[in-house]
Amino acid sequence: MDADVIIFNGVVLTMQDGAVRTEAVALLGRDILKVGTDTEVKALAGPKTRVIDAKGGTVMPGFIESHMHLFAGAGELDNLDLQGVHGFEALAQAVGAYAAARPSDYLLIGNQADYTIISETEPLTRHHLDRILPDRPLLLFSPDHHTAWANTTALTRAGILSGKVVGAGNEVVMEAGGFASGELRESEAISPVMALSPSGNRDRLGLITGGEPEPYPDTAQFAHDLEVIKRGLEHCAKHGITSIHNMDGNLYTLELLAELDRRGELLCRVMVPFHFKNFMTVEALERASTMAKAYNGEKLKSGFVKLFMDGVLDSWTAVMLDDYADRKGWRGEPLFSVEQFKKVAVEADRRGLQIAVHAIGDGAVRAVLDGYEEAVLVNCKRDSRHRVEHIEVVHGDDISRFASLGVLASMQPPHPPGSHGLPLEPTISRIGKAKWHLAYAWNTLRAEGARLVFASDWPVSDINPIRSVQSAMIRKKWSDDLPDQRQTLLQALGSYTREGAYAEFAEGRKGQLEEGFLADIVILSADLEHTAVEKLHEVRPVTTICDGVITYQA
Ligand SMILES: [Zn+2]
Repeated sequence: MDADVIIFNGVVLTMQDGAVRTEAVALLGRDILKVGTDTEVKALAGPKTRVIDAKGGTVMPGFIESHMHLFAGAGELDNLDLQGVHGFEALAQAVGAYAAARPSDYLLIGNQADYTIISETEPLTRHHLDRILPDRPLLLFSPDHHTAWANTTALTRAGILSGKVVGAGNEVVMEAGGFASGELRESEAISPVMALSPSGNRDRLGLITGGEPEPYPDTAQFAHDLEVIKRGLEHCAKHGITSIHNMDGNLYTLELLAELDRRGELLCRVMVPFHFKNFMTVEALERASTMAKAYNGEKLKSGFVKLFMDGVLDSWTAVMLDDYADRKGWRGEPLFSVEQFKKVAVEADRRGLQIAVHAIGDGAVRAVLDGYEEAVLVNCKRDSRHRVEHIEVVHGDDISRFASLGVLASMQPPHPPGSHGLPLEPTISRIGKAKWHLAYAWNTLRAEGARLVFASDWPVSDINPIRSVQSAMIRKKWSDDLPDQRQTLLQALGSYTREGAYAEFAEGRKGQLEEGFLADIVILSADLEHTAVEKLHEVRPVTTICDGVITYQA
C-alpha cells in the first residue's frame, strides 16, 4: 500500500522512551504507516504520495495542549493586548489608540494587564481608567483572568458601582465611601461587566455558569460562535497543536465543535469537560455522564469534570495552609468545603469520570488530594488519572501523594513570576520566602514520581508551546538557595506530548510517533536539539498535520 504522505529529511523525534531519533515518517489515512530512515520510508512512496521535505527540521508528535480555554482565547484574539505595558502614560496611550480604532465597540476589553501595571505600590482603580476613558465602558483583565478592573461607566452600566453580593471567594472590591474601587475578583464579580459585551458574556462560555447558554443561541448566534471557535482552532494549528484539553465548556461547546467536525473544519482533537460549580449538587454529574456517553470519539470527547477549588495568589484568593506571607490572618476561602468536594470526587470517580481541579495554593492542593484519596477509599483504587491544575504552591508532605494516588500534576511553564515577561511582584511576596522552594516545583514533584503535563492555559499565557518549552528551560531562581526547577528540552517536550496523551488515556494512540499511532505531527523550521535555548522562540511550525490532514502550512 502506497503512503498518502511522506515526510523525509527531518530529525524525527519520536518521543518514545529513550528519545529515539530517525529521519522520516510515512502516513496512510489517519495513521502513521512507518517511522524510519529516509530510504526505508521513501520505499513506500507511490505516484500519488505527497512528499514533504522537512529540510532538517524537527519532526515530532503534534503538541498536546493540556490546559486551555478555547472559546475565551479565540474571543480575545481581537482584544487590546497589554503585555509589557507599564505605567499610567503607556496604559493611557495603548487604551486610547485601541478605543479610537474601535469607535463602535460597546465594551472595550484589554488583556494581560498585570497586577503592577500602574506601579508596584499603586493598585489600579476605576479612577485611573476614568482619566483614560471616561465615557465608554472599559474592562481590563489580569493575565490570570481572575481579576479585572472596570471604569466607572462600565460599573454603572453593569449596576455594580455600589457593590454586589457575590459567592465565597469572589469580591467586588469596595473603596471608602461605599463605591466599588473598580477591582473585580473572580468570575461572579466580573461577569456583570462582561455581560455588556456583544456576545453577552458567552465569550467565556461555560467558565462562568457551568450550565448551558440560556436562551439557546439562535442560528445567527450559533454561526457567530462557530466562526469564533474556528479562529481559535486555526490559532492552535498554527502553533503546532493537534490536541486540546479544554478546561471549560458544556454541551453547547461540544455541539459547536461537532458541527465543525461535520464540515471537516475541526483542526484539532478536543476534549471538553463538564464544569461543576459549587452551587450544584452531585446529581448534576448525571449531565457529565450524558456528555461522556454522547462524545467519546478520537476527535471530540468529554468524560471529565472540571472544578475550581480556589482562585489565584495575586488577589489573595488562592487557598493557603498558612496565613499569606503579606496578609496576616488571611488564608483565602475555598470554593468547596472539604466535605462537599469529597462528595463530588467520590461520585464523579464512581461514574468513571476523570476529575481536573484548579488548585493554586497549598491548602487547595491538599483539599483536592484529600478528595481523591477519599474516592480511592470509597470506590477502590482504579486507573482514574485525576488531575490537579496549576499547583503553584504545594506542601512538602503532599508531594509524594501525587505518585501514590496516581494523580497527575498539570502545570504551566509560562506561569512562574519572573518567567515569560511576568513581574516577580506581587506573587513572590504573597507566597513568602519560607515557601518559595515549594512554588512551581516542577523538578521537586518529578523527583517524587509525579507525572507532569504542561500547557499554556491560553489565554492566560500565549499559546506558543515552543516559547513555553523555552520558559521551562530558562526558569530563573528568585534566590540562590532555591532548588533548580529548570526542565531539559526532552522533559518539557515529553510533558507536551507523551504525558498529555497519558492524561487523556490515549498513550497507545498519540503523543509519540510510532506505527499505528494517529497521524498527528508537527514539522518545525529548525532542529530543536541543535538550537540555542535563547533562540528557541524563533523556531516555528512549518506544517501541522492532525488526523492525517494538513491543518497548517506556513
Ligand atoms: Zn485555566
